Amino acid sequence: MWRATVITIFPEMFPGPLGASLAGKAQAKNLWALEPVDLRAFAPDKHRIVDDTPAGGGPGMVMKPDVLARAIDAHACDARPRLLMSPRGLPLTQARVAQLAAGPGIVVVCGRFEGVDERVIAARNLEEVSIGDYVLSGGEPAAIVVIDACVRLIPGVMGKAASSAEESFARSLLEYPQYTRPKAWEGKAIPDVLLSGDHGKVATWRQAEAERLTRLRRPDLWAAHLAGNAAKATKG
Ligand code: SAH
Repeated sequence: MWRATVITIFPEMFPGPLGASLAGKAQAKNLWALEPVDLRAFAPDKHRIVDDTPAGGGPGMVMKPDVLARAIDAHACDARPRLLMSPRGLPLTQARVAQLAAGPGIVVVCGRFEGVDERVIAARNLEEVSIGDYVLSGGEPAAIVVIDACVRLIPGVMGKAASSAEESFARSLLEYPQYTRPKAWEGKAIPDVLLSGDHGKVATWRQAEAERLTRLRRPDLWAAHLAGNAAKATKG
């Protein structure tokens, strides 16, 4: 079973949103398991201290390497990739999510304060992962994002497997606009082509809209899409 171990000083933040909806139902069906680990349980002193002042001075506190390593060694010494949530990390992509979802699970270390001691990152082979160019107060919301993205790709979790192959990023384009009833709403109609019943025309319209939105909103993705098409064309 796909398993997510989360090392955190706030185990009470879990399952949180992961206990509801798709992820919650999938957990109840034993399609995956969540194991929050309380980092403070691995602090040797009676005050359960997990942080200390930064070497070299400066504001804030740094998470201690010895306490973190003890928690990892007790709960996460297996084949699963070990991620450290970090604004300095490689940005998370759908491609990486798909790899993680296809494996045995993940271990997620949630930072707090100013971050973690650099030495434990190398010593325990932690992969630094960012969920975007902004700073959270802690790694827990980021861990929930990563786990949510993985869990929905586990076989049996999503109703229609097809919906994941078509959606944004799976094909390097943003998704086309969606509509549902009522047919007319606040004076605005659903595009005629979507009501035409002509599947070919619908597919062509959706492709054109996906391309238009990607070009407009995400020049970076659009360039990658064009480069991908060019590579396919030369491969024949
Ligand atoms: N001083 C750090 C920020 C620490 S924020 C710096 O400037 O880089 C505290 C913790 O929140 C981090 O250790 C990390 O675990 C988490 N965090 C903050 N922003 C994040 C992001 N964009 N992606 C992933 N984790 C993040």
